[in-house]
Amino acid sequence: MPTETFEFQVEARQLLQLMIHSVYSNKDVFLRELVSNASDALDKLRLEKLRDDTLDAEVTDLHIEIDVDKEARTLTVRDNGIGMSYDEVGKLIGTIANSGTATFLKELKEAQDEAGAEGLIGQFGVGFYSGFMVADEMTLVTRRAGESQGTRWTSRGEATYTLETVDDAPQGTSVTLHLKPADPENQLHDYTSPWTIKEIVKRYSDFITWPIRMAAVAGDGDGDSAPEPETLNSMKALWARSRDEVSDDEYHELYKHISHDWREPLETIRLQAEGTFEYQSLLFIPSHAPHDLFTRDFKRGVQLYVKRVFIMDDCEALLPPYLRFVKGVVDAADLSLNVSREILQQDRHIRMMQRRLTKKVLSTVKEIKTKDADRYATFWREFGTALKEGLVTDPDNSEAILAVASFATTHDDEPTTLAQYVERMKDGQDDIYYITGESRQSIENSPHMEAFRDKGIEVLLLTDAVDEVWVDTVGEYEGKKLRSVAKGEIDLDTEGDDQADGERAKQAEEYAGLLGWMGEQLGEDIKEVRLSTRLTVSPACVVSDAHDLTPALENMYRAMGQ
Ligand code: ADP
Ligand code: MG
Repeated sequence: MPTETFEFQVEARQLLQLMIHSVYSNKDVFLRELVSNASDALDKLRLEKLRDDTLDAEVTDLHIEIDVDKEARTLTVRDNGIGMSYDEVGKLIGTIANSGTATFLKELKEAQDEAGAEGLIGQFGVGFYSGFMVADEMTLVTRRAGESQGTRWTSRGEATYTLETVDDAPQGTSVTLHLKPADPENQLHDYTSPWTIKEIVKRYSDFITWPIRMAAVAGDGDGDSAPEPETLNSMKALWARSRDEVSDDEYHELYKHISHDWREPLETIRLQAEGTFEYQSLLFIPSHAPHDLFTRDFKRGVQLYVKRVFIMDDCEALLPPYLRFVKGVVDAADLSLNVSREILQQDRHIRMMQRRLTKKVLSTVKEIKTKDADRYATFWREFGTALKEGLVTDPDNSEAILAVASFATTHDDEPTTLAQYVERMKDGQDDIYYITGESRQSIENSPHMEAFRDKGIEVLLLTDAVDEVWVDTVGEYEGKKLRSVAKGEIDLDTEGDDQADGERAKQAEEYAGLLGWMGEQLGEDIKEVRLSTRLTVSPACVVSDAHDLTPALENMYRAMGQ
């Protein structure tokens, strides 16, 4: 097949431009990205071979290799992993599938200055393309395991790339960067120096469980026999090492490798369970919610390993859906390497593990909340909405979730916990009041709020769709009912107030005619017309029955297709 030239997809082209003219100061991370891809490719091949031992692929010496050539100014990262077919190269390397990236590019265009752009690059991983921060040309040669023909991809990072088939491609993938001219000012960024490469691998990729080897440099050996390649990383799984052996930075690099997020995580959670069902886990709470957290396709779940062997990504059986933002690794000692998703869903041990991990995440959030108000505020802003789903779906942990939940309130601009609300309740106030709606502004000015404002009674302002649901499921907090100010009859005068009761009876009689007439006029559209003490300024308002669906909830169910 002749060499074919293709155009990059528009988004991909924009991203490439950005890389070529990168202002991102930490260019070293390109190597982390290439090694990370190589490691994924080795994981995939081992797994595929495990599932199908007729697959024509060699798996006895899976590894990553880095070569530098000072003269030619090239750096090559090679793996003997799963590889890609001709079509896959075009699809995976020529386009950008990640939905977050489109958002990224939009934000980037809006970031006027270089500092803004640099911050954004740090937020979104750009994977393979990051090679163009240091290279003016990249070549990738790959052969998919089980196939006989390979593919060569080349690009200068401009509008196009080329594809051609190659006959003698070894198993796996090699990526060769032709490095930009050396920067005499900055020796640290000489990527043809083995010393520099060693440092970068140590810093960013030490935990990678496959050997990362570098051929000894020419002139290093004694000249006769080719010197042994050196393994640069320690390959120790971080989750299996004791806490004091591992630095925070190392944990963070593992987080970046598995989450494809370039930012630091908000929290690292370790849990090592011993006993009949042994497992080790290392979980991370990211510092930012991904853009697609609330979409149907959001890939949830952590990575599952069995005795250090990678088994699957996005293992949803390990954490409940409302903790889908948690990233990390769980390494179980006693599972079959062939375990399937279906089996995991039903496994008793896995369910126990899920319960334990859930409790651990929630107790960690509680700890953050007591120790560090700022970090807690970040957590709740990013993930509070997701966590509240747990109030509906996980009654066993409702209490733990409520303990770390906070809500906007009429009390002031800072969110409040339910405990704080209860402390501020007025004498004689038995219930916790809330109002739901689309935005704080729209509900704060709702006629339902008038009497509460006048009497100085605090009302929680709930604006997430899920709020409508959990308030009903949970029903009460510490014996205090959760009551909507917009539903049913609410009597703000203290009970047993005979004078007020008498007054109301008299009014009811006085207005009976009017109410009857209004009822007839409005007919089928409403249930009843009644006198209310809830309004002080507006003449009338529409309220739902205590058991009716509120409008926002109706919308939510409709959106969910029910
Ligand atoms: P990400 O790793 O976040 O998916 P990248 O830009 O780093 O994004 O890589 C894009 C895709 O290209 C990968 O998901 C993978 O399918 C494929 N790929 C990249 N490098 C390799 C490799 N060394 N071996 C096999 N596939 C690869
Ligand atoms: Mg990658």
